Amino acid sequence: MKIICIGRNYVNHAKEMNSPVPKQPLIFMKPDTATLVNRKPFFYPEFTENLHHEAEVVLKVCKNGKHIEQQFAHKYYDQLTLGLDLTARDVQARCKEKGHPWEIAKAFDGSAVLGEFIAAADFKADNIGFHLTKNGNTVQQGNTKDLIFSFDYLISYVSKYFKLHIGDLIFTGTPEGVGPLQIGDELEGFIGERKLLECRIK
Ligand code: MG
Repeated sequence: MKIICIGRNYVNHAKEMNSPVPKQPLIFMKPDTATLVNRKPFFYPEFTENLHHEAEVVLKVCKNGKHIEQQFAHKYYDQLTLGLDLTARDVQARCKEKGHPWEIAKAFDGSAVLGEFIAAADFKADNIGFHLTKNGNTVQQGNTKDLIFSFDYLISYVSKYFKLHIGDLIFTGTPEGVGPLQIGDELEGFIGERKLLECRIK
């Protein structure tokens, strides 16, 4: 199983990071050891002093495919959830500055927090509202209508480079409002009004 992540897929997030809006999807990966499921706590790692939350809609691939055409892409995922692309922002800044790969900032153990998966058929792909709360306060709010690259475009684009396998996950990008986490924070992630994700930072 692989975890494919899309960077800067919402204009306002690219702006808050002072990053250019990409012309093609920006792709990176996390290993399967990054997954954190079943409401398990996340242990704040010793290598960062600026751990950030990035709330994202996550798609679960249900069909193997390569060179998938956009018009058929919707058949390649059948479940979705809210996930967190946890990021060591200070480590990432150092990687970016040196032009180095950023896996140590984004693909470490537990950095792909996953909520409970639900049927994708219950949603219109281009109008999914979601939000993340920290200690009861909303910190990120987004809607997939604001995606730069749609789910279908992403699946088509990604599958030109990487064969998709059943069970692969696609983190589709975070909206604005990313921010720091502290030990003791309680995170809850929602799609619509439905709470799918809970994670405590320990
Ligand atoms: Mg992200």
